Amino acid sequence: MQIVRYPHPALRWKSKPIQQITPQLREIVSEMFELMYEARGIGLAANQVALPYRLFIMNPTGDPNEKEQEFVFLNPEILRRKGSVEGEEGCLSLPDLYGPVARAEQIVVSAFDLSGQEQELTLTELPSRVVQHENDHLDGVLFTDRLSESSLRELLPHLEDLELQFRRDQKSGAIPENAVLEKHLKSLEPSTPAG
Ligand code: ZN
Repeated sequence: MQIVRYPHPALRWKSKPIQQITPQLREIVSEMFELMYEARGIGLAANQVALPYRLFIMNPTGDPNEKEQEFVFLNPEILRRKGSVEGEEGCLSLPDLYGPVARAEQIVVSAFDLSGQEQELTLTELPSRVVQHENDHLDGVLFTDRLSESSLRELLPHLEDLELQFRRDQKSGAIPENAVLEKHLKSLEPSTPAG
C-alpha cells in the first residue's frame, strides 16, 4: 500500500459504501495510519491509497502517540453544515501544494467506527476541516477543485509538473496505464449483497 499522487485515477473515483467490517478492513485501516504518520499527515482517505471504499482516517494532532485522537470514519455522511471559514489546505496526494479553501465552520458528521457503532460527531476548527477535505476524497473531489480562480491559477504550474511526472512514471512502466488502474479499482469495489 502506498499513497498515490495526482493525477492518479483513484483520486477521481467515487467510492462505494463498505458492506462489512472484516479483519482485512482492520488491517487496511492500521496500514493507513502508519502511512499517514510516515507522511506527517493528519488525515488520509482510502482513495489516496487506491482503494475504492468510503473510508477515511484522521488524527488532528498528527502524533502517533495520541491514540485517543485517532478517528476512523466508515461510510461517513455530513448531515449538517453551519457557517463558513477560509483556511489553508494541503494534501498528501498533492505534495508541496497549499491553498486557501472555504469550508463550513461547523459540521455534524455520522459514520461507523471499526466496532460497527454508528457515531455522530459535531466538529469545528481543524477536525471539521479535515473531515470535509477527506469526505471530498470519497467523491473524487480534491481541494484544488475548491480554490478560487486566482488561487488555482497560482498553483497550475505545480499541478502540471505533477501531471508530467505521473505520465513519465507511466511511460517508464513504474505506474500502470490509467485503463489498468481503473480496471483494478473497479475489481476492488465492495459488492452489494444480493437479495
Ligand atoms: Zn487530501
